[in-house]
Amino acid sequence: MIRVFRSPWCAGLMVLMTVLMPASGSAPDPVVVFEGARLITGEGSAPIENAAFLVARGRIAAVGRQGALAVPSGAVHVDLSGKTVMPALMDDHVHMGYRSGESFSADHYTAQNLLDTLDRFAYFGVAAILETGTGRGDLPYAVRAQAQSGTRYYTTGSGFAMPAAGPGGPMQDSIYGVTTDAEARRYVRELARHHPDMVKIWVDDREGRVEKLRPDLYRAIIDEAHRYHLKVMAHIVNLDDVKDLLRAGVDGFAHMVRDQAVDAELLALLRERPQVFFLETLWGERRDIYTAPPAWLNDPAWRDIYTAGDRIALARQFEPDPAVNPQTRARARAMAKMSLQNTATLQKAGVRLGLGTDTGGMNGGQFFGLATHMELELLVREAGLTPMQAIVIGTRNSAEILGARALGTVAPGKSADFIVLDANPLEDIANTRRIDRVYLRGKEIPREAWKARWANQP
Ligand SMILES: [Zn+2]
Repeated sequence: MIRVFRSPWCAGLMVLMTVLMPASGSAPDPVVVFEGARLITGEGSAPIENAAFLVARGRIAAVGRQGALAVPSGAVHVDLSGKTVMPALMDDHVHMGYRSGESFSADHYTAQNLLDTLDRFAYFGVAAILETGTGRGDLPYAVRAQAQSGTRYYTTGSGFAMPAAGPGGPMQDSIYGVTTDAEARRYVRELARHHPDMVKIWVDDREGRVEKLRPDLYRAIIDEAHRYHLKVMAHIVNLDDVKDLLRAGVDGFAHMVRDQAVDAELLALLRERPQVFFLETLWGERRDIYTAPPAWLNDPAWRDIYTAGDRIALARQFEPDPAVNPQTRARARAMAKMSLQNTATLQKAGVRLGLGTDTGGMNGGQFFGLATHMELELLVREAGLTPMQAIVIGTRNSAEILGARALGTVAPGKSADFIVLDANPLEDIANTRRIDRVYLRGKEIPREAWKARWANQP
């Protein structure tokens, strides 16, 4: 498999490093000080103007103000005046490996395509992704171990539903179909041997087309998973299912409640369990959220690494589809509206929200990386959150949900995973897409080289 060499720093810095490094042998990377930018730490506090932060051995060593921060002699200085720095994003709801451009097939589930997809996330400054339930065989675990630079791969491996009642299309056969308590527990034990990062279940009858995972079965799965200290997240639609899953001990949800408004009973249940999370996953519902083609279709970022075919396919999603009957469309629109309303309600109630997009899945499309940024715009422009709230959801919260202690904020001790922006996203959330540079694990992602590589792909 071919991977492009990932240059540790830009060419100018290479020269400086050579000067600073002793002539012989394997000197450690020098300390680098990034200075002059506005720094959004991801904690939700006011940004630090004229910030300075030190990076050593891939980690943030110190954070402060330019001029006030002690900088070791010999440190490499990177001037970020006029820029804004934010933590790299996290996407806790994606489907890896089935998409290759406009093609959607299990045949694409190869190590090479999984790694290429991780690079697309890295290109847009996504530090980690969680593959939710549609991993195939042992491959995701092997690639997770192999991905030692760039975007981190978290996976739930194969998820659980009634037979053939989980995800659709080419992902349908990736899951454990269960019908008995014993079977559910046996498959959880089989899954646990791979040390997945979470467990995924689907509790959805797909508008009456399939059998919904029975409560006795999800209780068995949750109970068995918890024996192995594995969290369980549920794909859900209905308020009543969410309440029962909470009573069964579920740890989080892969979508919003979509059939009705969140009520006082649910909020009371959630207050008892403050660790429970919801991954809002608005991008997956974009077709029903927007009633007209959104202005962001003209964002030059779409021309960055996606093909003309990809962009045409995206734009078409917002044109009227005569194949969808008006009643189905109206119901889908009502559910999308409910997603937005419930996102705002849960945010106001202090419930833990995380960022998910469903990218790579049935509705998420092939827009790995950029769709993660679009989720922020949906949270702000459509659900009414502030840019700071959206950024905290997409960084710190989503890292905490994954248990990724080194990720999510720009703070001492954390991995140096951050995005350098040309404009301030607190003024306009669309500015998270004005990316100047991306650093993951302390190393700059060679965005131009990768862009050229993708442009030259057949
Ligand atoms: Zn999904």
